[in-house]
Amino acid sequence: MHDNRALIEKRLNRVLNQRLKPAVHRSVAPVRLSVWHVDGGQGEPVPPSEALPGGPAVAEGRYQPADVGLRWGPAWGTSWFHVEASVPAEAAGRRVELFVDLGWENRFAGFQAEGLVYRPDGSVVKGLNPRNLWVPIADPATGGETVDLYIEAAANPKVDHGDTPFAATPLGEKSTAGTAPIYRVNRVDVSVFEQDVWELWQDLEALGGLMLELPDGEPRRWQIAQAIERSLDALDLQDLAGSAAAAREPLQPALGKPANASAHRISAIGHAHIDSAWLWPVRETVRKVARTTSNVVQLLDEHPDMVYAMSSAQQYEWIEQHRPEVFKRVAEHVAGGRFVPVGGMWVESDTNMPGSEAMARQFVYGKRYFLERFGIETEEVWLPDSFGYSAALPQLVKLSRSRWFLTQKISWNKTNPFPHHTFWWEGIDGTRVFTHFPPIDTYNSDLSGRELAHAVRNFRDKGAATRSLAPFGWGDGGGGPTREMIAQAHRTADLEGSPRVAIESPAAFFTAAEDEYAAAAPVWAGELYLEIHRATYTSQAKTKQGNRRSEHLLHEAELWSAAAAVHGLVDYPYDDLERIWKLVLLNQFHDILPGSSIAWVHREARDAYASVTAELETIVETAQNALARASSADGGSDTVVFNAAPHERHGVPAFGAGVAAAAEPVRCAPVDDGYVLDNGVLRVVVDERGLLTSVFDVGADREVLASGSVGNLLQLHPDLPNEWDAWDVDEFYRNTVVDLVDVDELSLVADGSSGIATVRVARSFGASTVVQHISLSAGARRVDISTDVDWHEREKFLKAAFGLDIRAGQAAYETQFGHHYRPTHENTSWDAAKFEVCAHRFVHLEEPGYGIALVNDSTYGHDVRRAVTPGGDTTTTVRLSLLRAPRFPDPETDQGAHTLRYALVPGAGIDDAVREGYAINLPERVTGGAAVEPLVTVNGDGVVVSAVKLADDRTGDVVVRLYEARGGRATATLTAAFDVTAVEETDLLERPFERDALQGVDEGQVSLRLRPFQIVTLRLRR
Ligand SMILES: [Zn+2]
Repeated sequence: MHDNRALIEKRLNRVLNQRLKPAVHRSVAPVRLSVWHVDGGQGEPVPPSEALPGGPAVAEGRYQPADVGLRWGPAWGTSWFHVEASVPAEAAGRRVELFVDLGWENRFAGFQAEGLVYRPDGSVVKGLNPRNLWVPIADPATGGETVDLYIEAAANPKVDHGDTPFAATPLGEKSTAGTAPIYRVNRVDVSVFEQDVWELWQDLEALGGLMLELPDGEPRRWQIAQAIERSLDALDLQDLAGSAAAAREPLQPALGKPANASAHRISAIGHAHIDSAWLWPVRETVRKVARTTSNVVQLLDEHPDMVYAMSSAQQYEWIEQHRPEVFKRVAEHVAGGRFVPVGGMWVESDTNMPGSEAMARQFVYGKRYFLERFGIETEEVWLPDSFGYSAALPQLVKLSRSRWFLTQKISWNKTNPFPHHTFWWEGIDGTRVFTHFPPIDTYNSDLSGRELAHAVRNFRDKGAATRSLAPFGWGDGGGGPTREMIAQAHRTADLEGSPRVAIESPAAFFTAAEDEYAAAAPVWAGELYLEIHRATYTSQAKTKQGNRRSEHLLHEAELWSAAAAVHGLVDYPYDDLERIWKLVLLNQFHDILPGSSIAWVHREARDAYASVTAELETIVETAQNALARASSADGGSDTVVFNAAPHERHGVPAFGAGVAAAAEPVRCAPVDDGYVLDNGVLRVVVDERGLLTSVFDVGADREVLASGSVGNLLQLHPDLPNEWDAWDVDEFYRNTVVDLVDVDELSLVADGSSGIATVRVARSFGASTVVQHISLSAGARRVDISTDVDWHEREKFLKAAFGLDIRAGQAAYETQFGHHYRPTHENTSWDAAKFEVCAHRFVHLEEPGYGIALVNDSTYGHDVRRAVTPGGDTTTTVRLSLLRAPRFPDPETDQGAHTLRYALVPGAGIDDAVREGYAINLPERVTGGAAVEPLVTVNGDGVVVSAVKLADDRTGDVVVRLYEARGGRATATLTAAFDVTAVEETDLLERPFERDALQGVDEGQVSLRLRPFQIVTLRLRR
């Protein structure tokens, strides 16, 4: 027989796309269209009450008649359309829908204009999206029904997806995006929904998609081709609706063949990955979520077997606040079990950079929302899209009482394919979480034959495991799952050659997967490092800094407010702290904190951090003043120092206030056109180029800098990645470097007599200037460097390098509640891929007997490499990634003034690294008054307190969270400065939790025993 399959495949493609799909909606009546462009189309969104009947827009006649062909929508504008029509008699007995094409392209589903359809009374019908262009009118129609609907249309521009990908664009700010309309109304009419045509489309889609994935030698492929040809022969192209039913008949035997006995199983779950901000501002996400969930509840109404999973408590709260009517329908379907809250986090946050407490609070606020609103304990942590996953997460997942973890992003690795799809993920403390990484390699599946077949082929655990998960639905502004996707799931439920697809909840998947594979699943220990998007540790420095400062201010605000409230001096600011936490958590979303959003988003993040800072400073000041005044009633000093760090400093206890020990002078002398600073602990030489040429540890009698190397060398690299500008730094950036060694001015600005010696170094390069202050304080084992940069470079990467005389095979990087190691060599492709990595407050290097730390107050990106000197010494160079200047998606990224602080800590053990990391982020505060006793005191080597606060349930109980910070076993005692009636160990949400750290309470002393990196939350009842 001749092979005519190619002919059939091309015929199917043309008939399906050019004839069948356009024939689903048969226009039966025109509409009367009118439009109100809010503020000429450039206005910010208005509440629906302003646009709907009863509001001023209708009353004042702002709606103007319009026709198909109307140009609308300057970028970011809003236009309201009013659609009126009546259903003609000829449509009686048929399903009738309004068909709306506001000017969409049939690609980039999430990244164009969108609409939300309202009835005149303000109730919501559904969303309109590029692949979801219909509104239900009547099913079946009787004829004569009146159509009276309003569409709130958002002219969201296509920020990327031009001819030149990742090109600098002005579209990311309304002020620069232009005023010309960018959309055209293509079609609005009353249509009959041709059910048979649609069903035939679904049959052909399912069989055609499967056919193309089957091996050439497989009889099934040939049989399907024959069935498709007979179907197309039966289809009358002049009468598609009239012949579609007959054309379906030849396909039914092929559709009826059951799946193979060993077919892979796919748990399909409706989903829409909606980035909480990205190529649009937060205010648009509020509307995107409402549109998509409106589509979803409509779909759930019509399809009783449909299940949808949505993460991010923040997004539920947006619907609750902005579209209560939609929220009510969501809540009904949540109660019915088919709208499934997942994730248990406030947002799908980044997990590399959020600090310890913030990472914990993502779970606290997320899970508590779902518990309070719906009574649901979410158990699956849902992070398909974040840029790598911290090794601290497994313990936090477990302590939040979640059981499972889902990620998708690791499929983006550029170098090493991840070896498992279902596995136990082990964190730094040894906690293991059952984890799934869907082999379908997308969190926006359309359940096409191609994607289903890829999932089967790609699944690395087949043989031992039989099932995987597939999230389906258009994300972002795409509108979520569609009825077409549900149709594909139905047709592939039991189909020869296809995996078996079942629509079911994530919990159903995880339970079944754990049942069959828990005992045999492989273990992956440590972080899930993402081998792409490594520049997200650095881009948008102000966002990073705002996050770091806010996290530490929140710690101070909780600590001092708790202390003052326990003593009855202030009311604990529960509401303010909750609101501020939620704002900080929102800005940890995986396109905000990583710096990968448009200018609008980062401008708003900077504003949010400024307001958070001002509020928190006031809270801290109020509490400290109350505490200092109360204690000065018994007589005290005029100046006291508040120490919010979890370690004693200058004689002032952790979490207390007292008079700091007087500072000794620091010796300081000019030498060879430079300076020598000497505090008896360290002797530091700043040469005529402003570089550290010697850092001598007096007690250890050793030089810290490598021979022939320097410290604090600023290095400038060209930095144009091949794609994903704000996200990526490509390895080749290292091939070209300029050392910034020319000095404009070198001067001594503090001579050491007051206890600090400071050298000022001013440089200029390109269009930028940098002023650094290098300081040595009395008694300090720390060289402090404060860097003021006025940054006007484009596509450059600025690093600060320290060549250290230390032989370290690995470096310790701080993460949440501990640290983890990465090698300093590039032996394997896995090691080499980690050429840029994330750390929190410290990086620590150690050889037997000696360690060095580098601590920072706002930097996350680092690289550490080793070298061998001509003399044979193995040395290690540590670099901080200070600033970048990518031009997409924000063309002005990081332009302007920045102040960044970091410090070199010679002779540091891991304890010292932890301590100095806290110290540089929690500067002492000086105020009037007298000494303040700490509210709680914890004694125990390596045990660090991360939070002191009042319980969220507002009982007045004090909650203390602490952790073992060295990676070893530890014992500790906790003493409170108030009467404690009972102590219990809790989960992150401060609920009683059976744990093992609490050993007993004796005369007010709480004894604890901790495993390596164990996190313990204690509730102290008063
Ligand atoms: Zn995302």
